[in-house]
Amino acid sequence: MERLEPIFSSQQVSERIAEVASEISQSYKGVQEPVVFVCVLKGAFVFFADLLRRVDLQPEIEFVRLASYGAGTTPSQEVTLSQDVEVSLQGKHVLIVEDIVDTGRTVDYLRGELGKRGVASLEVSCLIHKLERREVDADPNFVCFTVDSGFVVGCGLDYAERYRGLSAINRVIFSQEKE
Ligand code: 5GP
Repeated sequence: MERLEPIFSSQQVSERIAEVASEISQSYKGVQEPVVFVCVLKGAFVFFADLLRRVDLQPEIEFVRLASYGAGTTPSQEVTLSQDVEVSLQGKHVLIVEDIVDTGRTVDYLRGELGKRGVASLEVSCLIHKLERREVDADPNFVCFTVDSGFVVGCGLDYAERYRGLSAINRVIFSQEKE
């Protein structure tokens, strides 16, 4: 059985999201074209809702969901969109809101896919930027927290569909792991 070690408290999460929301508001301030926040399901939904309530903007909201095909957890997995946005992104400023950028493959794929649609701009915000397993150059534009390694849960992030409702971000300690 795994156990959890808090790495960012509920208060730290909420304060940091407010700071990033303010950076995002500043960055899109005064743009003429519509701004669309695209939530990457499922993991980003809590961060997305927190961010949305803290920005000083009135963005449209859309949701995408990705499916990975391939052997288990190997990095050779193919990513596809299993749920697409429901509106045209033509001429709009698009902010992808992702839970974690890990290998960078998901964000790289989404940037490619949404970038084909005539957007005015395309940027990425994430709750957690993980550095250990980066495979592609996919640096997010707005980052709440950076972690070197480990598997994290809480704030929408799961381990086997558990722990999404925790308001702190926790590292999972698996029983065979040294502490
Ligand atoms: P990528 O490797 O394509 O950058 O990240 C793909 C997805 O893997 C993330 O959106 C996230 O859903 C999942 N992921 C990567 N690292 C973690 C982690 O530490 N915890 C959880 N819960 N999901 C993770």
